[in-house]
Amino acid sequence: MIPFLDLKAINDQYYDLISKELDKVLKSGWYILGESVNRFEEKFANYCGSKYCVGVANGLDALSLIIKAYDIGDGDEVIVPSNTYIASILAISQNGATPVLVEPNINTYNIDAELIENYITERTKAIMVVHLYGQTCDMSPIKEIADKYNLKVIEDCAQAHGAIYDDIKVGNLGDAAGFSFYPGKNLGALGDGGAITTNDEEIYNRLIAYRNYGSHKKYENIYKGHNSRLDEIQAAVLSLKLDYLDTENEKRREIANYYLENISNEHIVLPSFKKEEQHVWHVFVIRTADRDKFQQYLLEHGIQSLIHYPIPPHKQEAYAEWNHLTYEISERIHKEVLSLPISPVLSLGDVKKVVEVINSYE
Ligand SMILES: *Cc1c(COP(=O)(O)O)cnc(C)c1O
Repeated sequence: MIPFLDLKAINDQYYDLISKELDKVLKSGWYILGESVNRFEEKFANYCGSKYCVGVANGLDALSLIIKAYDIGDGDEVIVPSNTYIASILAISQNGATPVLVEPNINTYNIDAELIENYITERTKAIMVVHLYGQTCDMSPIKEIADKYNLKVIEDCAQAHGAIYDDIKVGNLGDAAGFSFYPGKNLGALGDGGAITTNDEEIYNRLIAYRNYGSHKKYENIYKGHNSRLDEIQAAVLSLKLDYLDTENEKRREIANYYLENISNEHIVLPSFKKEEQHVWHVFVIRTADRDKFQQYLLEHGIQSLIHYPIPPHKQEAYAEWNHLTYEISERIHKEVLSLPISPVLSLGDVKKVVEVINSYE
């Protein structure tokens, strides 16, 4: 079976190096908010080109804490794509604010910049862009709209570590950005982890306190904070793996290009992108009318695939208040998409087999 994603093989590449990092943390006797977290925050801010980085417990908290830091809550609205992973939307509702769903573009699967303005009201405070599947959003028009209406731009970078738009890396394209280091992401930890990047000093200072019980100084709580810290072990592993992120993204690009050049089947719609550097191929998503039949066919030929995602947010039980609404493009995407195997350790032989099997599908 060709696995969708072989996490063990990804981390095995660095087995000895990771072991050394784990050993160092173990022997240091310091496990929360220490040198490893400081080092990672500095390294990751540098990598993204942003002034500040705050390590947090996971990607959802990263996004949720940004919204809290901008005082966005009851009565406020945040624009967000209707086909995103549920975390982007939860981050908004957790703060008491209202997520306002906007349809994506059917070719890029990212929020359709042309539709955003229709959804802006007096209550709109921010646009949350999601660089879905690893591809940057169409940032120029989005920033123009944000400037015109004085809105914050919050980036959900959980799937796009290292993607570049107009010479600027994701994480540095808006006012603040949330990252996830869930093991399967392009930069993955050995457990949960997340980070926020920003150039906004005021927000940075708040976030440093929010993640640690609302305190800058132990036992002095100036905010009603959270416990959302990146731990030393994950930070040490992430610092190490960050050195290989660009190489790994390059391998993903090679596989993506191979698929794009060689898959040829009238039933399959391939992904599209504008510039190489804008896509880091967190997942390689195709569309096909009879998706479930196609997925079964792949499985019978030894190829594992996944659906990102089977149910759109507005049809989830958790958001019953939206269940009666229709978002045609999102619904079509959720019905037709399938993610093919792609990872930095997928062999050329396996990639070729995937292509052959797909090209023989009738
Ligand atoms: C993974 C993901 C998140 C959430 O990250 P966690 O670390 O799992 O909390 C948020 N947004 C998107 C688009 C994601 O893919």
